Amino acid sequence: MMEKNLNIKFENPIKVSLSPLKTPEQKRKEFERNLKETKQKMDDAFTDVGEDIHVFLASGKSFNQYTRDRMSTSFESKKSASKRVLSRLNKEKSGYKPKKHHGKFDNYKFDKDLFLQEIQQNPAGSTINWSLLARKYDIKSKNGTTPKNAGQVLKEYAKTKNPNLTQHLRLRRIRRAKKIIIQKNIKISLPTKRPAKNLKTDIKRKVSSGELYIGVPVAPKSIVKTKITDAGTLNQEKEQIYGRKIPMQHIRKSALEHQIQSGTLRFFTDEEYINISDQELRSRFLRIQESIPENRENAISFLKSLERTRSIKLWHDHSDILNHSYVCFMLSWLYDTANYLTNQEYMEKYPERRPINVQAEVEKPKIYIFGQSGCKDEEQMTYVETRLEDLKDIDTPIEHDNYKIQDCLRLFSGDGPARQFEGGQQRGGNYPCLCGVHAEEHTNLLHCFQVSPQDLDDRCRLATSSNSLRKLKEGCLNPFQNLKKR
Ligand SMILES: [Zn+2]
Repeated sequence: MMEKNLNIKFENPIKVSLSPLKTPEQKRKEFERNLKETKQKMDDAFTDVGEDIHVFLASGKSFNQYTRDRMSTSFESKKSASKRVLSRLNKEKSGYKPKKHHGKFDNYKFDKDLFLQEIQQNPAGSTINWSLLARKYDIKSKNGTTPKNAGQVLKEYAKTKNPNLTQHLRLRRIRRAKKIIIQKNIKISLPTKRPAKNLKTDIKRKVSSGELYIGVPVAPKSIVKTKITDAGTLNQEKEQIYGRKIPMQHIRKSALEHQIQSGTLRFFTDEEYINISDQELRSRFLRIQESIPENRENAISFLKSLERTRSIKLWHDHSDILNHSYVCFMLSWLYDTANYLTNQEYMEKYPERRPINVQAEVEKPKIYIFGQSGCKDEEQMTYVETRLEDLKDIDTPIEHDNYKIQDCLRLFSGDGPARQFEGGQQRGGNYPCLCGVHAEEHTNLLHCFQVSPQDLDDRCRLATSSNSLRKLKEGCLNPFQNLKKR
């Protein structure tokens, strides 16, 4: 263009590029290498040293769903696979010889006669798992190693020794190939997630080694399963199922470790309590707005008990998942400035960290029990026994590096029915509310102020008095219902 406009003739073309010139061959090779490297990196990212099983478990997908998703994203469709196989078969019929993927058969060591004998005994039309056979005959190559395509070698060997076998057995199955990227002459398969089978074995291994903790089985119950047999008849089977519980001790310990690690917990050693100055003592009481006992000894032990007792909140609810009803119990720790830093203090203590909402961090719920259960009292009672075991144990302090902390169950929160169950109140009816006010009188303030609500102690006293305890022990969960007037 410049030559034309300015009417000058350049002897040599001007080179603008500053980097050394590359031949097309070099460029192609570099491109190929980059593509392969990228694929390898993406394959690694999918596995991420086994992290993919966490992604899978958190997704809530079934193994089958995972496989379906994987097949549809990274593999060709069934239709195109069968089309491809068919056109290949036609090609082979018209004389096309596929590339060989094996060496000379003399170089492979295995019991050839026995193998040919076995292969002929298979009924017509049956499919054969060649790689399984390869493992059975323990094929070794010349240098004594097991070839990776041992199954393929066996198949080809059977085909060449006995050409009639092609009619006799189904030698080719339609297999969906990975999607490939074709760029000029390069074919590269799409990076693919691991097959579900591999995830399954990984998960099983991690569960049995304890790396993935799934708690202990609780509240066994037997259910009737209805199955349709191959013959088409309905078959009823009894099966034992369990709920799952992460023991409270385990949650308390891991929560303590997490709180210490995240830096939200305020904790002081025994020596720090003994050597506390009077001024510090006063300011610490002032901070949590408690009055100081006069005696120094008492003040220190009171402060210690306040600062070393965490309060637990329990929550539970019912929900239906795929036509089965489940119960779920969660635990969380109640935020208290006596135990935890305030947002301001957190910012001052860790200026290098991102500011967080300490209360939200502390009150994150942790799963406690999960299992199948109807919403009836009788069914929910099946979880009471195992909960009681944990409650008896709650007074044992949790230890971490010579530092002990106490926990106490302080509060239950949940919806109406869950609260009524926990408080021993009837469900529904005219008096569903724990406050003891008639359902229709809740807007009547005058009436509400006159009713004094019963606390848990009152309820316990009532339940254990007279013959209601006997009724409870006999399995009658509502001893106060259907009482006769006298
Ligand atoms: Zn009420």
